Amino acid sequence: MPIIDEELFVRCRNCGWEAATGIRRTEEGLTADPPGERRITCHRCGTEATYGNADYFHRTVQWDRERVDV
Ligand SMILES: [Zn+2]
Repeated sequence: MPIIDEELFVRCRNCGWEAATGIRRTEEGLTADPPGERRITCHRCGTEATYGNADYFHRTVQWDRERVDV
C-alpha cells in the first residue's frame, strides 16, 4: 500500500489519535534508520508519552480511505 507522505505517526496511548511526529522517513529509511525512543505529545489530548521504534507508522491511502468512509 503506497504511503501518502514520509511523515511518521504514532497512536496516542491515551486517546488513540494518530499523532504526527514531525519525523520524516521513507519506508526503507524507517527500517534502515529508525528514529528510536522519543517523547511525543498528542495534539488532541495533550498527553506526552515515550514511543519506540515499533510505534511509528506511515499514513497510507487505505488508512485515509477508512477514515473517510466511517
Ligand atoms: Zn491523545
